[in-house]
Amino acid sequence: MASDLELLLKLQVIDYDIGELERSKEYLPDMMENLNREMEESGKKLEETKNLLDETRVKQNELETDIGVKEAELQKYQQQMMSIKTNKEYDALVAEIDSIKETISQKETELLETIEKVGNLEKEVKELEAKSVEILDNNTKQLSILQEKVDSIGDTMSSKEKERQSVVINISKPIMSVYERVRRGKGGQAVVVVKKRACGACFKALTPHKVQEVKRADKIYTCDSCGAIIYWDEDVSN
Ligand SMILES: [Zn+2]
Repeated sequence: MASDLELLLKLQVIDYDIGELERSKEYLPDMMENLNREMEESGKKLEETKNLLDETRVKQNELETDIGVKEAELQKYQQQMMSIKTNKEYDALVAEIDSIKETISQKETELLETIEKVGNLEKEVKELEAKSVEILDNNTKQLSILQEKVDSIGDTMSSKEKERQSVVINISKPIMSVYERVRRGKGGQAVVVVKKRACGACFKALTPHKVQEVKRADKIYTCDSCGAIIYWDEDVSN
């Protein structure tokens, strides 16, 4: 009977592996999609930041040109000051000069802000480029590992199925049907070790009588509460 238990435990490991393979059919493509999306997003972010940097540089050039034009105008007006004839002309020219100075001052402030922005964006582009390369490098490696896994699911599955068959063939039909029923019902571990004299699945304490039976291990025993197949292991069950 101990060998039945050993076979069931072996079967349980195989079934766990088969379940994992089934699940991996879902989560491996998801993982790959996430890795691809991360690469796309980092590329897109880099592209956007580069575009913004280009726009900001254009703006910087425009401001520098504008300021140059305004400064030339200012000089022209300042020279006109030399040949002023009337107070009225003088007032008009002073107002004009003040207005141009004001404009230049505004544009200079804007230029300083723009230069700072260009500096920050250049830094950001460098960082994003480094990050993008790192993501590309890392994700490409991971993707090829995951692709290999996806490609091998079929083969691994059929070898697990064969292994399962070779174990199942040695387990008696009634015990197999208990195992299958418990596994379907519990959706997971069907065979659990008794822990501290309680069922390892539902944690309900076993009666002293049940403990004696399970210890004897003359046949396969199940938990009266949850139906799991339970077994005794001296190291953990006491
Ligand atoms: Zn139980």
